[in-house]
Amino acid sequence: MPELPGRTPAEILARLDALRAADLPVRGGRTMAYVYDSGLDGAEDLALAAQTRVAGVNGLDMTVFPSVVTLENEVTGRAARLLGGDARTAGVFTSGGTESCLLAVLTAREHARRTRGLREGAELLLPATAHAAFHKAAHLFGLTVVEVPVDPQTCEVRAEDMAAAITDRTALVVVSAPSYPHGVIDPVADVAAAAAARGVLCHVDACIGGWYLGHLRLAPDAPDLPPFDLSVPGVTSISADLHKYGYTPKGASVLLFRDAGLRRHGWFAQAGWPGYPVVNPTLQGTRSAAPLAGAWAVLEHIGTDGYVELARRVHAATVRLAEGITAVDGLRVLGRPRASLLAVASADPALDVFVLADEMRTAGWYLQPQPARGSSPANLHLTVTAAAAGEDRLRELLAELEKAAARARAAGPAVVDREVAAVAAALDPEALGEEEVALALAVAGVGEDGALPERTAPVLAVLQAMPPALAERLLPEVIGRLYRL
Ligand SMILES: *Cc1c(COP(=O)(O)O)cnc(C)c1O
Repeated sequence: MPELPGRTPAEILARLDALRAADLPVRGGRTMAYVYDSGLDGAEDLALAAQTRVAGVNGLDMTVFPSVVTLENEVTGRAARLLGGDARTAGVFTSGGTESCLLAVLTAREHARRTRGLREGAELLLPATAHAAFHKAAHLFGLTVVEVPVDPQTCEVRAEDMAAAITDRTALVVVSAPSYPHGVIDPVADVAAAAAARGVLCHVDACIGGWYLGHLRLAPDAPDLPPFDLSVPGVTSISADLHKYGYTPKGASVLLFRDAGLRRHGWFAQAGWPGYPVVNPTLQGTRSAAPLAGAWAVLEHIGTDGYVELARRVHAATVRLAEGITAVDGLRVLGRPRASLLAVASADPALDVFVLADEMRTAGWYLQPQPARGSSPANLHLTVTAAAAGEDRLRELLAELEKAAARARAAGPAVVDREVAAVAAALDPEALGEEEVALALAVAGVGEDGALPERTAPVLAVLQAMPPALAERLLPEVIGRLYRL
């Protein structure tokens, strides 16, 4: 074998390490969105070893790689036992929450076509706080979104409002347990009952909370939690991400259905082309077995008792954090958070939460800005994971928040020029040419190369002042500038 002319592994990995240095940390609990750290020694190494063992395996053809069938059955079986399944429950392992939500919607659309003859104008009924993945599903699969506002105080949707919005065209009703923006649990039982009474399917999006809440309620000192899973009459499917509170490597989620007959509507089969016969249970063709094996290994390793203990720690930390944040002058927690997520808003016009996020970022903490929409004011999202739940880490976070809030107040809010806001509101997003886009981005403070300024509060303030359709026109332009080649 001749020497390869490429760079050495050491050089290549050094480059990778150098690139990674600009990223937010994925361990340690200070990045309070996007990443989930169990804080357990060895869990990550085990996952990496398991992923290596299955490297190259293609889950596309489960008949020639039977290991993927066994691993998937064990993973979905564990999920079904945790989330109210019974002997009829059927599951599928997917690449993440978005794919689980997409498949839930696709399955419901096909079910409605085949069993109710609903061919045109299928509707997807969503609380305003449902995850963006459902809007994506409606967009991809040609459904019309019907959005129901939530109670401005609790941030939960009202069951009677959902019930009143069900029509003969409703293909699927969605509720969240909990919702991503505010961490509150929608009234699952009442909405599911209303859907069932109309013969409509009901999906519970427990992508972020399923694994956490399912284990928390097994703790001897568990808080009161409303029922939210497949055991609730009328609930026909539920999604739970493993790459969130299962603390598994990314690319792992589970979607459970009432029974295999329902699941079957979301599968795709093709035997009419000249190639191999195809059965795809997910949206993917070739399917890496690595996320499945990594997830399976971590689930086996942490086990039910381990997850219950992690959930207890996270719960205690979230309660403590909510109290501590409420005690910070000028800050308040939105809604009635029941899980491990908090939405922190300002109670003082002089304190801008986006400026607070910038101040926290300089102190090494990432809190995720959520612009004001509908009845939800601008706020910062905090996902509390086990690695952030230690006493020292919590004290450090609350102390930083206190100091950062004082600095944010001193700096003052990011304001949007009134005229700029008025012009933005009058723009027709569909009619914008290249030059107008460039101008709009320059006004918003976005560089030619798509780079955001060090301090993001002014950009977020502009974004928030735009109608969503305009933001949806401009944001892809920003990202497009990052991917020039
Ligand atoms: C994270 C999340 C999703 C989407 O999951 P991804 O894994 O990011 O694709 C859907 N719903 C809720 C409630 C979530 O928190």
